[in-house]
Formats: sequence, C-alpha cells, structure tokens
Amino acid sequence: MNFCPDCGSRVTLQCVGGDDRQRFVCSGCKKTHYQNPNVLVAVYVCVGQEILWIRRGIKPAIGKWAMPGGFMENSETPESAASRELREETGLDIRPEQMTLVSVSSILHMAQTHLVFRCHLDVKPTPVETEEATECAWFSQDKLPWTELAFPGIERLVRQVYRWLESGNYGIRVGFIDDGGSQYRVYPLSPPDQDSESTAP
Ligand SMILES: [Zn+2]
Repeated sequence: MNFCPDCGSRVTLQCVGGDDRQRFVCSGCKKTHYQNPNVLVAVYVCVGQEILWIRRGIKPAIGKWAMPGGFMENSETPESAASRELREETGLDIRPEQMTLVSVSSILHMAQTHLVFRCHLDVKPTPVETEEATECAWFSQDKLPWTELAFPGIERLVRQVYRWLESGNYGIRVGFIDDGGSQYRVYPLSPPDQDSESTAP
C-alpha cells in the first residue's frame, strides 16, 4: 500500500500504540490501515469414490486441474461462498447446508486462510463448462492426473480426502504452510457428523 484509500495521502509503516508490528498509517487523515489474511473456500463434490475436478480457465495455473473455489465475499458465510463459487464455476446448485468442513489451512507467506468443504451426492450431476472451468471431470484417486494439479501443495489433502471417501471415516485437517514447510493435524470426526444447533436470528 502506498496511498490511503480514504483520502489519497501517502501512507508510511509505523508501530501504533503498543502494537508489536508495523501498520500502514496515513500521513493525511492519520487512519491506520490494517491488513489481514484473505479467506478462500473450495469444495470437493463427491459421488462414491469420485471427486469433481475443474480444468482452470483463468490464471493462475491455467489449464491445470483444481477443485471449484475462490475468495469469500463480505456478508457470506464460508459455506455460502463455497456454494456460490461452485455455481459460478460449474453451474451446480448445492446448498450451503450440504457443505461439511474438511480442512482449515493457513498459507502464511501468502496471508491466506483456506477453508475447504466436502459435499456428498448420490448421483453425479452434470456440470456446465464456464470461462473459469473449461472442463469438468469426475476422478477417482487412481484416475486423477496427479502431475497436472494446479496447486501441487494440496496433494496430501487430496489423498487424505480420497482415503476418507474409501473408509467412510472423516476428519478435519488443520494446519499451515510457510516458506519452511508445512505442519498439519487431523482431528477425527465421530460419525455421524450431522450434529448441529441454531438459534432464531
Ligand atoms: Zn488518509
């Protein structure tokens, strides 16, 4: 950040108050502009032992295989963001309530937090190709073109999800990636994982 988005004056990096890290502070209106991680969501649509993959039509990793996903928007829940991204990229209509968390991953060097969901369908729906997903395909673990993954860093998670599909015992994988490597822990879910609670808005 070079200029204040509010008033256009130049910003400088400063420690404010008792803060232990530098923030962008506006030289004009004096506002402190905090920068925080962006949240991305992605979804594994599962039918039997197969997962829906898309061939990316946009950068980065154009032409490679990924799962539908993207950045959360304001006023969305992670599940509704996953539902929207899936609809935008493949035309499939899956409700937020059908999304179950599989992974919370902090990509520290990119200041991103990834929330990944799974949903299970009995019958394969027919996705449509879009600008963002030029091809859609259902791959089992042995059919997936592993050398053509858009983001090779997700390989362990993908293998974990395929193992979960095979065993029917699911978990939630939580951890981080930084320049020095990665560290993850799997929290097992005791089936059934449909327990829920809600209050009136
Ligand atoms: Zn300003």
